[in-house]
Amino acid sequence: MSAKRDYYEVLGVERGASEKDVKAAYRKKALEFHPDRNNGDAQSEAKFKEAAEAYDVLGDEQKRQRYDQFGHAGVGQDSFSGTRFTNIEDIFEAFGDVFGGGMFGDLFGGQRRSGRAGRDLRIVLELGLEEIDKGIEKEIALKRAEHCGTCHGSGAKPGTSPIACATCAGRGQVQRSQGFFTMASPCPRCRGAGKVIESPCAECRGAGLLQKKADLSIQVPAGVEEGMTIRVSGEGDVGQPGAPRGNLHVVIKEKEHKVFQRSGADLMTEVPCSFAQLALGDTVEIPTLRGRAEMTIPEGTQSGKVFRLRGQGLPQLEARARGDQLVRVFVETPKHLSQRQKELLREFDSIDQERTGKKTFFEKLADYFE
Ligand SMILES: [Zn+2]
Ligand SMILES: [Zn+2]
Repeated sequence: MSAKRDYYEVLGVERGASEKDVKAAYRKKALEFHPDRNNGDAQSEAKFKEAAEAYDVLGDEQKRQRYDQFGHAGVGQDSFSGTRFTNIEDIFEAFGDVFGGGMFGDLFGGQRRSGRAGRDLRIVLELGLEEIDKGIEKEIALKRAEHCGTCHGSGAKPGTSPIACATCAGRGQVQRSQGFFTMASPCPRCRGAGKVIESPCAECRGAGLLQKKADLSIQVPAGVEEGMTIRVSGEGDVGQPGAPRGNLHVVIKEKEHKVFQRSGADLMTEVPCSFAQLALGDTVEIPTLRGRAEMTIPEGTQSGKVFRLRGQGLPQLEARARGDQLVRVFVETPKHLSQRQKELLREFDSIDQERTGKKTFFEKLADYFE
């Protein structure tokens, strides 16, 4: 990867260029490098994406200000990061409005925008902490709309085709005048499609779409959290012929773990110990996400003490650091003592009081009430 070019240079404008000039410059570049006009040439596509990224920053007042002050780092990029846009459809989605009504149809219309885009889909993906720890490629099965094989998405009975809507003359929009203004709204008859189907396809009943099962493989990065969404572009429902597919939104749900509780990138565990272990010190075996580990408890540890095991937590998303594991030790009071154990404990207790000469809690309480 080569170093990132200056965004002003990419669009070919001066640093002080007005908002209007920036927009016009982007339009020009987008036209020049539009993939449809360059037979899908890879270099043109790269330039098309580069221009979109530059416009994403320079076309936004706040981002532009940060870029002017701090360069690429100010807008979340380092000098070698790849383009923000990996998918051409994302660019159309983000900046289609730059090209406004007619221009839009002209430039991004044609094949690509001749119909409605596919619907976005949303699925919930349940993951265990072990999977979140490592990051995982997950196979998922879902149902989504595909073009009907019989009519190839047109919705019209084979041998027939949709005809231009008479209400809007195939424009998809109806206009009405109000004083000086002309308002355009989607045609009520064809719902903006510009076409109507006279003899619907029997297979899909004129919808052009059928629900089909799809198997996808989703790459889940390490460190994701409950509620986060991974956007997989172009994996939603199919659009009308020529229009882009919808996107798939994968919402992360965390499975409850038997041993660990999560707090950000930190993991918390509780480990029961005997009174003797805490009083005398001991080495105990504790669970970590990556297997068993040993932890040393120093002599005289109080019940409830929390130990921090650095770097034993979960990876932080998009960072190299890891969280910690917090281990809380506590005394588990024995419930069923033998006669002998009880004797020993009583003996221990009396020696303890003699030795330390400490007043018991109840003696202190008596003093307090006097
Ligand atoms: Zn059909
Ligand atoms: Zn119509």
